[in-house]
Amino acid sequence: MTDKRIETPQAIRGTQDIFGAEAEAFAHVVETFERIRRLYRFRRVEMPVFEKTAVFSRSLGETTDVVSKEMYSFEDRGGESLTLRPEFTAGLTRAFLTNGWQQHAPLKLATHGPLFRYERPQKGRYRQFHQINAEIIGAAEPQADVELLVMADQLLRELGIADGVTLQLNTLGDGESRENWRRALVEYFGDHRAELSEDSQDRLERNPLRILDSKDRRDRAFVADAPQIDAFLSGEAQEFFAAVTEGLDAAGVAWERAGSLVRGLDYYRHTAFEFVTDRLGAQGTVLGGGRYDGLVEALGGPATPAVGWAAGIERLAMLVGERGEPSADVAVVPMGAAAEAAAAGIVADLRRAGLTVDMAFKGNMKKRMSRANDSGARHAVILGEEELAAGEATVKTLSTGDQARVPLTGLLPVLKG
Ligand code: ATP
Ligand code: MG
Repeated sequence: MTDKRIETPQAIRGTQDIFGAEAEAFAHVVETFERIRRLYRFRRVEMPVFEKTAVFSRSLGETTDVVSKEMYSFEDRGGESLTLRPEFTAGLTRAFLTNGWQQHAPLKLATHGPLFRYERPQKGRYRQFHQINAEIIGAAEPQADVELLVMADQLLRELGIADGVTLQLNTLGDGESRENWRRALVEYFGDHRAELSEDSQDRLERNPLRILDSKDRRDRAFVADAPQIDAFLSGEAQEFFAAVTEGLDAAGVAWERAGSLVRGLDYYRHTAFEFVTDRLGAQGTVLGGGRYDGLVEALGGPATPAVGWAAGIERLAMLVGERGEPSADVAVVPMGAAAEAAAAGIVADLRRAGLTVDMAFKGNMKKRMSRANDSGARHAVILGEEELAAGEATVKTLSTGDQARVPLTGLLPVLKG
């Protein structure tokens, strides 16, 4: 006989199986976000994981890294080009338009879930990753920007990771300021054309602001001395930015001006920001966002101002660090077939009463007791044939070893006490 070994298919590169203490940290980030978005009255929305490719290519801009290099696009069986969402904003904007949510404007939305980008996998950078996301659609007022930033700050504080994470803030001005800045950047970088990375030589024609966001060392050398937006800001744009910073100061949110901060996507106007840390190596941006007043129009809707942010759950969870898995309150240890059957009912009652309960049902008594000890429970409820016949259980306090017989009907007060 030949040995036909079946080979287990490997997971897709850049995807993760998150388990145990890391999964607890991940869940903690999501739960904290869910709690805080309610404090700020953001409404929950669930979105499809895929959209027509045009949703992303039209809104993100053909020349962005995400659209030109990172999208997972495919033809479905009907020959339509679809894309796994690389970010939330474009799909949310599509939903805003196709569902007629204009009536709710200003609409505060929160969501979270997986996103897909074809990137070079490394620590903190995956091909399937997860974000929490918050947006305010239909608000032109700087108060909306402030509210989102204060919410992001509160999230980081409540996760206990605000120390060592800085808010870097910039304005890209209104359309006119941005255009004048763009022209100055083309002129400046044009003088160094041959020394720029190939990508940035290409960006020079198509999307010069993005050179400022380049991670290539050859480009970084010139970014420091590039013209800054401040020289090109209209009076209105200056006022808008001042209102944002005043709001942040009033709310006690620390920020730093970052004159060359631009966002990876094309549609930003006015406020642009990132929360960054040096505790995650090269993947130091944990949360980023800004105002995208041009996006709704890019998707064929009426002029609608909007602002939002997204944060990588994995990166936040890495800062949070591993979190212990919650321990049990009670471990139930049945011995023998009759006790095992009865235990199912007792365990169900205890859990319905809100206790966290483990049941040790594998192996001999010694194995079961050691499992009960490992569960972190305060009490073990030991059910033997003899106890059961008397309508009782032995309750053992695991830290002291003390034990007492307790009637089954009186278990709950003893275990809760
Ligand atoms: P980066 O500069 O790190 O590539 P980005 O500008 O592409 O980030 P955004 O599109 O603004 O990122 O996404 C917001 C956040 O989502 C980032 O700040 C980061 O925390 C997280 N993020 C983005 N791409 C990835 C990825 N491939 N893996 C893990 N997290 C990611
Ligand atoms: Mg990126």
